[in-house]
Amino acid sequence: MKASQFLISTLKEAPADAEVVSHKLMMRAGMIKKIGAGVYNYMPMGLRVIRKVEAIVREEMNRAGAIEMTMPVVQPAELWQETGRFEKMGPELLRIKDRHGRDFVVQPTSEEVVTDIARQEIKSYKQLPKNFYQIQTKFRDERRPRFGLMRGREFTMKDAYSFDRDVDAAKASYQVMAKAYRKIFDRFGLTYRAVAADSGAIGGDLSEEFQVIAATGEDAIVYCPGSDYAANMEKAEALAPVGPRADAAQAMSKVATPGKSTCADVAEFLGFSLSSSIKSLVVATDTKDEAGNIIKTQVSLLLLRGDREMNEVKVGKLDGMADFRFATLAEIDEHFGCKPGYLGPIGLKKPVRLIVDREVALMSDWVCGANEEDYHLVGVNWGRDLPEPDLVADLRNVVTGDLSPDGKGVLAIERGIEVGHVFYLGTKYSRAMNATFLDVNGKPQFMEMGCYGIGITRLPAAAIEQNHDENGIIWPDALAPFTVVLCPISPDRFAAVKEAADALYETLLEAGVDVILDDRNERPGAMFADWELIGVPHRVTIGDRGLKEGMVEYQHRKDAASSQVALTEIAGLIQ
Ligand code: ATP
Ligand code: MG
Ligand code: MG
Ligand code: MG
Repeated sequence: MKASQFLISTLKEAPADAEVVSHKLMMRAGMIKKIGAGVYNYMPMGLRVIRKVEAIVREEMNRAGAIEMTMPVVQPAELWQETGRFEKMGPELLRIKDRHGRDFVVQPTSEEVVTDIARQEIKSYKQLPKNFYQIQTKFRDERRPRFGLMRGREFTMKDAYSFDRDVDAAKASYQVMAKAYRKIFDRFGLTYRAVAADSGAIGGDLSEEFQVIAATGEDAIVYCPGSDYAANMEKAEALAPVGPRADAAQAMSKVATPGKSTCADVAEFLGFSLSSSIKSLVVATDTKDEAGNIIKTQVSLLLLRGDREMNEVKVGKLDGMADFRFATLAEIDEHFGCKPGYLGPIGLKKPVRLIVDREVALMSDWVCGANEEDYHLVGVNWGRDLPEPDLVADLRNVVTGDLSPDGKGVLAIERGIEVGHVFYLGTKYSRAMNATFLDVNGKPQFMEMGCYGIGITRLPAAAIEQNHDENGIIWPDALAPFTVVLCPISPDRFAAVKEAADALYETLLEAGVDVILDDRNERPGAMFADWELIGVPHRVTIGDRGLKEGMVEYQHRKDAASSQVALTEIAGLIQ
């Protein structure tokens, strides 16, 4: 590819609505363009990355014996009515009508359609197991689309569905997928964790999420540094449904504004969004009459956002209406009538007594906005409101108790981005849709199913959260839009430079290297800034002076400085 023929549209500044680094950098690198809330154009540079993700996923899915197909984006409602999901699913499911007034859905996932295929195609146990997958557009009308491709409304997912003759075979199919997923995420070159997840009504332990570890992740992961134990927060709490969270939940059920008491709900009620960098709490305060009866309960949502020193904090307070302002910690304390330092600074190391619905709970090492009898905690969104990563260790006792379930150590918490999910479904869908096959004895049996998703378009965002510096993206080789960029300096003035760059370009193309030649005649500074922002791993700079000695400059995106390399050695170095 030649840069002059390609579309390179980098930006100096990220748009104001880009909160996390991956969103900022993907916008600035010209990889995506927003056209509506959670809906993006995948621009040529971004699409190249998405194609790399798809290629690896496709290769490993095929290797694991899955069969590729595609199912329609727009699906007739009848199939979704068979499982009851047309009615049961909330507003995340986009329902549309055609010109005849018939109902359709825009697929958020495809269990219904794939089960319909299986019940038509699979007649006998001899045809099992089968695993169908697609890499296809999904639509979920997310309540809070945000962070660019991380939580879009339209996005691409790889979704696979396994069909088996019995539970054991289904478990084996699940394991094949769980193993393939490890291979896939290893190949991406990312730091990730496979964590136990809630397997819903089915029970058992056959549900795992693949979480890319990143401070901006929306999910909280509980893990044991001394063992293999790792689970998402819901799963971890299901094992230990006691402690402050349970107390808070109980208190929450009693607040003055039923149904508006979680941070997210209250935020939505107020019309502002919670971002992961905002810590939020809902506290309620009672006004009592002289006899001590509660005559009024005020619910306050505190949005606490601060730098490490916590000297500037953003506060939103709900006393029936939104009242936003910037305040210093001291102002907050004054505003809420707190003792200095009580409110806000998540991370204060003093043990604080918390009033939870008039019962006193002790939350060690964490201040959470309680002010003696007047305030009580009514809701904390643990997943979203965990403190900064290096303060997280202090929280472990609060959330799950001391020891990991395997008894091999204390639990720690970190944040993750869910990039994949493997799930044993059982016969939930085959029963609802009467998808049967004839077993060895000629008796009809419901097919045992599993489903397996990968967020294809979320993955590049997750990769950037983990791999970037102040100059831009640092793609792992496997995901880079181009593996190497050739930067000739003033090729219009130096014929030898142009010639050498063209020749190297041809050599690398011949060798199958994903190379881009920057033939735009840009100044070196601007050219380098572009490629550092875009994050191409290898850069070769061809200048007149070095070329006279047969040398060019080579710099890996992770290197602090360039090194001189013989022109003849470049091809060997990059492959
Ligand atoms: P989340 O918890 O982030 O909402 P999910 O559990 O609802 O995700 P699944 O139904 O398990 O998602 O879908 C499989 C994969 O699709 C997820 O692991 C994730 O990587 C991806 N995915 C889900 N929702 C989105 C979205 N709104 N934008 C981008 N990718 C998504
Ligand atoms: Mg979801
Ligand atoms: Mg999830
Ligand atoms: Mg999931």
